Amino acid sequence: MSDQPSIETVHAATIVDPKERKSFALKDRPTRGDQIFASKKDAKASLEEDALAINELQDAMFACKGGALLVVMQGIDTAGKDGTTKECFKYTSPLGVNVFGFGKPTEEELAHDYLWRLHLRAPKKGYIHVFNRSQYEDVLVVKVRNLAPPKMVEQRYDQINAFEKLLAENGTRVLKLMLHISKEEQGERLRERLEVPQKRWKFNPSDLEDRKLWDEYQHAYETALQRCSAPWAPWHVVPADSRSRRDATAARLIRGALEAMKPEYPDPGYRPEQYQID
Ligand code: AMP
Ligand code: MG
Repeated sequence: MSDQPSIETVHAATIVDPKERKSFALKDRPTRGDQIFASKKDAKASLEEDALAINELQDAMFACKGGALLVVMQGIDTAGKDGTTKECFKYTSPLGVNVFGFGKPTEEELAHDYLWRLHLRAPKKGYIHVFNRSQYEDVLVVKVRNLAPPKMVEQRYDQINAFEKLLAENGTRVLKLMLHISKEEQGERLRERLEVPQKRWKFNPSDLEDRKLWDEYQHAYETALQRCSAPWAPWHVVPADSRSRRDATAARLIRGALEAMKPEYPDPGYRPEQYQID
């Protein structure tokens, strides 16, 4: 399609450049996304194309077992972590994609180091895993709500970088997406959750408590992105006020990550004409 921005363009528009990470400011990043996709129609067409391509790339990756992809999906309540995942992988075989949500840690999880539950769910070769929330909750909600001593939280940025480096050096590409919405848009979406009967189940009164801490969360996100946009696992800020542009932007980035892995169907190790099927 002609109006699809190149993957390089989308990459450049969203990345937190590891070389300039220290001066990264979240407020400089748009939440609307119309500079990437001029219209919703363009975004929807782009998503269709990419969702199909993601399926084909995953199939080849599964066949060659050349590597794995971990998509880290972060964003404040209502930013669209579920919706983006659903749209980007709507044509991907369920055999090749696994999605894991990380909520409040269980007793068993709390008895281990905080990265244990994440490492357990890291993808094996050939697979795509999506983390709906992730290791970053341990420097976001945990920091904002004082769930661990500040000194321990401070140590975690380096620990997370080391963890992601371990994954990257062992064949897992780590793509980190922060879905970035405005406070106004979150207000709209929370109202919608109360108004639409089919969405009421998603509403949690604790979301309002978190909304009161909006500035603290934005600050914690900014710090996490500054400290953890590493060359082996850079962050991308995806404008998320428009659902269709958000999904299309994420799909471009996921397709780009898979293409960069260059998955190719392996030589089967036999010549088809060797066999006759009667
Ligand atoms: P949801 O994604 O709406 O199902 O909510 C999951 C909740 O679990 C969110 O409020 C997260 O902030 C919270 N959560 C995720 N990870 C942690 C963690 N490590 N410690 C405490 N709360 C967490
Ligand atoms: Mg929630």
